[in-house]
Amino acid sequence: MPDPRTYQFNLPSNSAPTNVKLDEEWYPGIIPYAISASTRRTVDAITGIRAIVIHATAGASSEGAVSVIKSRSASFHWLVPDENEAAHAKNVWATCHEARRAWHVRNTASHPDVYFGEQGVNDYSLGIEIVNMVASSDRYSDWQVAATAQIVRYCWEKYPNLKYIVSHAKLDPTRRTDPGAHFPWDKFRETVLDSPESPGEAMVAGLARNAREIREQVIFDD
Ligand SMILES: [Zn+2]
Repeated sequence: MPDPRTYQFNLPSNSAPTNVKLDEEWYPGIIPYAISASTRRTVDAITGIRAIVIHATAGASSEGAVSVIKSRSASFHWLVPDENEAAHAKNVWATCHEARRAWHVRNTASHPDVYFGEQGVNDYSLGIEIVNMVASSDRYSDWQVAATAQIVRYCWEKYPNLKYIVSHAKLDPTRRTDPGAHFPWDKFRETVLDSPESPGEAMVAGLARNAREIREQVIFDD
């Protein structure tokens, strides 16, 4: 059984994707709540972003998840809906402005593998919540994994210093287990790192490959 306290990978800095399209919508009515359940970042809102924290809600619905924002007890930047919800396989929910510091990791939580163990993770990170019970009875759907990966790829393109992709469990192992042992972390990592390039890039790569094959043929013909 995988241990969620070990879930982390780092993004290579020289191969960020381009033209990533993210299917996101604001969660209906959430914006005023999001503003009051978040604070200003002390770091630059683009260059100061270093990490993405992967969470699961330990609940059954997006509505339940956003209730914590409405009560100002926690907040996060995106919410990935569950299989039985209308938005599933259509869009992820934006639930807080990326430029603002959401409240998804305890202030004293940190890990030496993540930005040199710097505390105040919320200040330099973005938080993604996936609607899941964090139990063996509730599988993550393929779309949930792909949609979470797509958010990461979107951020990888947008934030030049983004590097650390980490579970909440690794940052706060005594109190949190999310996204849990049943989250397919390896598949998620591969989807982030090995997704097909944008159509334009794929075409250029294909042309380069063809040129190389033609060159090789010429060499072999000699
Ligand atoms: Zn969490």
